[in-house]
Amino acid sequence: MELEAINAWQQTTAGREEATLAPYAMHSADSAGRKYPEPSHPYRGPFQRDRDRVVHSAAYRRLSAKTQVFTGELGDYHRTRLTHTLEVASVSRTVSRAMSLNEDLTETLALVHDLGHPPFGHAGEEVLNGCLQGHGGFCHNRHALRIVEELEVRYPEFPGLNLSWEVLEGQAGRISKTAAAQRPLLESQVVEAADSITYDTHDADDAMELGLLTLDELLAVPLWAEAARRVRRQYANLQPSELRRAVLHELIDWQVGDLLSQAGERLASFGVESPQAVRQAPVIVVVSDALAQQKRELEAFLYQRVYRHPEVVRHRQVAQQRLREMFDQFMQHPELLPDRFHQRSFVVGLARCVADYLAGMTDRFAQREYERLFAK
Ligand code: MG
Repeated sequence: MELEAINAWQQTTAGREEATLAPYAMHSADSAGRKYPEPSHPYRGPFQRDRDRVVHSAAYRRLSAKTQVFTGELGDYHRTRLTHTLEVASVSRTVSRAMSLNEDLTETLALVHDLGHPPFGHAGEEVLNGCLQGHGGFCHNRHALRIVEELEVRYPEFPGLNLSWEVLEGQAGRISKTAAAQRPLLESQVVEAADSITYDTHDADDAMELGLLTLDELLAVPLWAEAARRVRRQYANLQPSELRRAVLHELIDWQVGDLLSQAGERLASFGVESPQAVRQAPVIVVVSDALAQQKRELEAFLYQRVYRHPEVVRHRQVAQQRLREMFDQFMQHPELLPDRFHQRSFVVGLARCVADYLAGMTDRFAQREYERLFAK
């Protein structure tokens, strides 16, 4: 090829990816495409368009007022579902770039991964799942697919966002990991690992800020103790607040570094050289056994001390009771649903439709809707 032709080729998504991505990365040119075929875009690749569609969706914006672990009433320092999602996207992109994977696909998968959470996080999910027994149940990972395939109405030509097959397949893989016949693409494996890296780190940070845990208690947990040792090797005499921040940075850096070296070794030892080979190989993007063990210890500690903390449980119970009452009220009075949902209930069934409406709410909107329905 002439130099000019090479330059022009490298300006295209396919050319850029061919020049920069590893052979085991998912290349846009090999995508299985979209359910509703669309002409290609003059300067955005398919996964870049997917990412943009998610960012412009209503469900994505609503993550800003949805609970991650702690409800908004508890304070304004801690993570929301949106800031958690952005942390996952940030770590995912770092890992993806370091491994020469498809960053656009990785980022899209990260932005979609928690899109299906109802208000009040897992507490809300538990209620909706209970309400939908006999109607297929409710699972946030599956609901994210309903959102991007059906519930977002943004384009005249098709329902949903019409995302690329690889994004839908990646999200579907989160529903039941044991049932999957094949391994997910590396871009999906990265998001899975990044999710765990971020929540293990930020849940401890948020819990400390809320006064549910002290720094000393966390420093007694092996993962934190090791991170603090690494920090102290670099800096002497840190104040507790400085130590806390430095440990948080170290925790992410350490986990990401460990992940990258493990993944590099596993790629080489399994001889993986294509996305097809990734699907047949054992999981590649994982932390070392020693680190995985320390993460499990931290998670067990957080479970006991944070997720089951009486204050957290009390907020959760109030929210759950209200969601349940709203579900029952809409089941008895479907005419109280917004017209779009009321009409849809004749197609998909009332219980599913009520759950779709409730799941789309932010924490704040759910409170207001509760007051509207039960105004004395
Ligand atoms: Mg998550």
